Amino acid sequence: MAEEAVREMRASFAAGRTRPAEWRAAQLRALVRMIDEKEADITAALHDDLAKPHMESYLHEISLAKSSCKFALNGLKNWMKPEKVPAAITTFPSSATIVPEPLGVVLIISAWNYPFLLSIDPVIGAIAAGNAVVLKPSEIAPATSSMFAKLLPEYVDSTCIKVVEGGVSETTALLEQRWDKIFYTGSGTVGRIVLAAAAKHLTPVALELGGKCPAIVDSDVDLHVAVKRLAVGKWGCNNGQACIAPDYIITTKSFAPELVDSLKRVLERFYGKDPLESADLSRIVNSKHFQRLTNLIEEKRVADKIVYGGQIDEKKLKIGPTILLDVPQDTALMTGEIFGPFLPIVTVEKIEDSIDVVNSKTKPLAAYLFTKNKKLQQDFVANVPAGGMLVNDVALHLTNPYLPFGGVGDSGTGSYHGKFSFDCFSHKKAVLVRGFGGEAAARYPPYTPEKQKIL
Ligand code: NAD
Repeated sequence: MAEEAVREMRASFAAGRTRPAEWRAAQLRALVRMIDEKEADITAALHDDLAKPHMESYLHEISLAKSSCKFALNGLKNWMKPEKVPAAITTFPSSATIVPEPLGVVLIISAWNYPFLLSIDPVIGAIAAGNAVVLKPSEIAPATSSMFAKLLPEYVDSTCIKVVEGGVSETTALLEQRWDKIFYTGSGTVGRIVLAAAAKHLTPVALELGGKCPAIVDSDVDLHVAVKRLAVGKWGCNNGQACIAPDYIITTKSFAPELVDSLKRVLERFYGKDPLESADLSRIVNSKHFQRLTNLIEEKRVADKIVYGGQIDEKKLKIGPTILLDVPQDTALMTGEIFGPFLPIVTVEKIEDSIDVVNSKTKPLAAYLFTKNKKLQQDFVANVPAGGMLVNDVALHLTNPYLPFGGVGDSGTGSYHGKFSFDCFSHKKAVLVRGFGGEAAARYPPYTPEKQKIL
């Protein structure tokens, strides 16, 4: 299956099917049509997989995927143009250009938490750059995976864009093949497996991973706005199962009580007194992740620190928004990525100390800061290494197609979105063209004393 898929894609790529701008644009237009015509199917699949509220599916997946297609359609002609660069004196006379070239046949392995967007968005980049693509959606979001397998061939050129469904064994078989790029979204653990498999064929990779995203909250903020943004960026993003959801908050000891009270109030406004009954809160994706999450708060040292929430319903796989205060740093909750509805708050004496707390952990995918203090904003940007950062809001940086999206260090390598997606799936070929003039005698042996005078 895996071998056959690659062979078929390779033949199509070698025949040059994916190279013309017209083919690329036609596929992108077909994706826009698919999104428009099948929005209800997409929403239903996302609801099946995660009980994702319709509004979240639309705002965070469907509309972003459509904008991404349109952005690529608008940019395509310009992006494909060779870029003229200055000629160097060493090559005079000559003309130099950078020619973007498709890489070939690429593999996209996607994750379950935004199973529509995280699959389609890299596919858009790969198509725009003129590649043949195999998409392997996550088996943990089975409804969305089978929707892709059914819908994509109805809309796009299936000789060049293929869906292969499956879990670990199918992905392992795919990884044994030779690819021209592997684009992986998921955990660092599997990221290492992908990287090792890619090394065998010297295949370049993009790894879109996760980690613990911090949110520093200063006491000078407009608290009403800040807590709404924090709450929607945590629980309004798949109930915390989002790679860029704030994993933990850092604030000062003196401000923490006011912040907790304000968060409680906003959570009650958003999800009511019984959040497990709220249709606006996604469920946990499956029982394995439910178990993983409940284990995190079972330990007494953690359970004792819950200041809000903690409700669970195993049957419905629901966990309510949960806030914890000053959990010991050596617990699993504080060392690993939470990827769920728990929001621990870490306290420091002075807000400036929070930068050291962030930097004591691995480099996050996203780092957030809420403050009006310009000096603190500058220190944060200058001194916190992160995939991306956002001041006074959460998650929205990924909606700007002019910004690259990706991690650094443990949170990933490579970036995409907008033109960065095109670049991610292109090789920038250096092309130098000379005439037959401009001969420099010193270049050629014999290196006579006369010629060596230039040394
Ligand atoms: P997952 O379990 O769906 O795995 C991702 C992909 O890896 C799936 O397609 C799966 O089939 C494949 N896979 C799983 N085990 C494998 C194995 N042993 N060998 C080969 N392939 C295998 O997703 P996940 O890993 O649970 O995703 C959660 C993680 O992803 C979190 O760390 C989160 O932060 C990160 N994430 C990052 C982004 C981003 O854009 N940077 C987006 C979403 C999620």
